[in-house]
Amino acid sequence: MSQSESAALIAGYPLKAHNTFGFDVRAQFACRVEHEAQLMAAVRDPRAAALPRLVLGGGSNVVLTGDFPGLVLLVALRGRQLVREDDESWYVEAAAGEPWHEFVAWTLSQGLPGLENLALIPGTVGAAPIQNIGAYGLEMCERFASLRAVELATGAVVELDAEACQFGYRDSFFKRAGRDRYVITSVTFRLPKAWTPRAGYADLARELAARGEAHAQQPDAQAIFDAVVAVRRAKLPDPAVLGNAGSFFKNPVVEAVQFEALKAKEPELVSYVQQDGRVKLAAGWLIDRCGWKGRSIGAAAVHERQALVLVNRGGASGGDVLALAGAIQQDVLTRFGVELEAEPVCL
Ligand code: NAP
Repeated sequence: MSQSESAALIAGYPLKAHNTFGFDVRAQFACRVEHEAQLMAAVRDPRAAALPRLVLGGGSNVVLTGDFPGLVLLVALRGRQLVREDDESWYVEAAAGEPWHEFVAWTLSQGLPGLENLALIPGTVGAAPIQNIGAYGLEMCERFASLRAVELATGAVVELDAEACQFGYRDSFFKRAGRDRYVITSVTFRLPKAWTPRAGYADLARELAARGEAHAQQPDAQAIFDAVVAVRRAKLPDPAVLGNAGSFFKNPVVEAVQFEALKAKEPELVSYVQQDGRVKLAAGWLIDRCGWKGRSIGAAAVHERQALVLVNRGGASGGDVLALAGAIQQDVLTRFGVELEAEPVCL
């Protein structure tokens, strides 16, 4: 049997294990994609050809508010390798279904530093460019070389560079015009041989300092990886234990004049000036200041240790989480005049 013939659509497929909030919803049809050829076989299947499609990797950046009335493609493509090197960089390719954190750990085990600040981010390699994942002063786009994707309308395999992906702050072409158009099948990263540590974020610097002076002064990539893992474990809920999708809101960026007015009213406002002169505000601080940390609506709650993370305490629906998010957005808008934008895709 050929790979394309082996694509199998499953009707009424349960998605609870495929979204990190753990919402108990179903897909009208689902297909587990282990080979590129299965993708087109699934979307061309007459039962699903006219239906909406949803691509799920780890399901770590999606809010499913109900059963999905279409075809869910469960991307399970695996494999990772060093594909080439030049004087400046190593190039490492990983299939879209590789778990992100395992991939980062593997690069370090191969002596290839550069992704360590992004340790323990939930989800898959294929999801990383969609969201342009970032943490502790590093964004994925800084290590990105290119990606391979299948265009679903034509079945064409394309290679897209950073410019085509239009990366922004927790954003890319794939969250906008490219949504549902392409399925990312692999990503190639460029890891610079002239590696320098990035340890400026306060939590990370504190953790490195707590681990001993040598690490704090001149941490190596493994020390940063270990410290990021420790900080994230201490602060962020494990989706396997408490359903969540990481940060629920983007950090808003406001004009300098609005920032000055806010700072005059709220002297403790946490903020970071951007290169373009605008100012990034810490969304978690704004939410906390409105008194939401630890509060809940039904089984949907704001995490006790990190106000930016909404959690499913058990039995919440996607609608419950959106109701909670809406109440938070309204309070932050009323108090600060700042609009919070959701980071996950809400369906
Ligand atoms: P934090 O250290 O408490 O800082 C709060 C916010 O201030 C962060 O969102 C961060 O913005 C910003 N910030 C802190 N230090 C900064 C610096 N030196 N320069 C510029 N901006 C600074 O944040 P946290 O919530 O514990 O998260 C730590 C890191 O992990 C952050 O980078 C965060 O984005 C990332 N993270 C991402 C997710 C996700 O789902 N996307 C979930 C958890 C954590 P930035 O967000 O722009 O870095």
